[in-house]
Amino acid sequence: MNVLITGGAGFIGSHLCDALINRGDKVFCLDNLITGSRKNIEHLLGNDSFYFIEADLIDFDMTKIPFNFEIIFHLASPASPKDYVRFPIETLRVNSIGTEKCLNLALKMNAKFLFTSTSEVYGDPLVNPQKEDYWGNVNPIGPRSMYDEGKRYAEALIMAYHRVHKIKTYIARIFNTYGPRMRLDDGRVIPNFVSQAIHKRPLTIYGDGKQTRSFCYIDDLIKGLLLIVETDYHMPVNIGNPSEFTIIELAELVNKITGLELPFEFKEALPDDPRQRRPDIELAKKILGWTPSVNLEDGLRKTITFYLRD
Ligand code: UDP
Repeated sequence: MNVLITGGAGFIGSHLCDALINRGDKVFCLDNLITGSRKNIEHLLGNDSFYFIEADLIDFDMTKIPFNFEIIFHLASPASPKDYVRFPIETLRVNSIGTEKCLNLALKMNAKFLFTSTSEVYGDPLVNPQKEDYWGNVNPIGPRSMYDEGKRYAEALIMAYHRVHKIKTYIARIFNTYGPRMRLDDGRVIPNFVSQAIHKRPLTIYGDGKQTRSFCYIDDLIKGLLLIVETDYHMPVNIGNPSEFTIIELAELVNKITGLELPFEFKEALPDDPRQRRPDIELAKKILGWTPSVNLEDGLRKTITFYLRD
């Protein structure tokens, strides 16, 4: 199959490129490297089935693309709070204009279209765990609004194209995902802790550290994404690991795995930081037969080993 991946040089995008190349697809990777990195795809550059275009989706002339795609995976977007706060307009544009360009291409090529949405569409949720039918608790003008509302607008646009043009669209709502190739300076909690452990610095905890997250290892996520596009289910599907941890528990686990006893450095809480997050994955289990298989301790070990080798 011919596949387009926007954001293919990012953390998740590059793992998706690997999985598709390994199963024999032709992969066309488009990335402006605003938050992605050439290093993530360097090992694929000599492969005859891999095409990399360094370009911004917003300006890129889609008519230049030499072949027809069967599937378009639209991942391009800054995704860590630090990155989207740094690039607020780019984040809104790639999720609005960028999504529309990809949808028009899917329409023209009769391709399937998968969008990587986010658990951030649920905002600071008032229910736990979050099910796909929860509408969310989002501040439309807050410090995370460029991402949350960008993704919410994209979901609305995708459903409109699905309903009007009958495109086979798919929306994956991705919960916190981690693994090799995350940028250690992307500001997220796992890269921060890994980098602090490598440099033997205190582990920074924002607020009281009792807020929760549920962390999914990258390989599990990629399996879920590949299964979704094989279905006829076009409403949003949560993809994440339902094991929920406080940030303090995560910090303790990093100390346990590394054998270090790094102290905790408590810092001011971030504004609009969700207090809890945990996916309800009953839908994914039912329609994909999917459930994550890597627990946090094993996934963290693999991740830390990757950075120690790198
Ligand atoms: N966090 C923390 N220390 C850090 C980085 C993040 O305590 O060094 C907290 C952050 O406040 C949030 C959680 O960890 O409550 C997850 O943050 P992250 O940026 O990884 O992703 P989010 O789920 O907020 O998008």
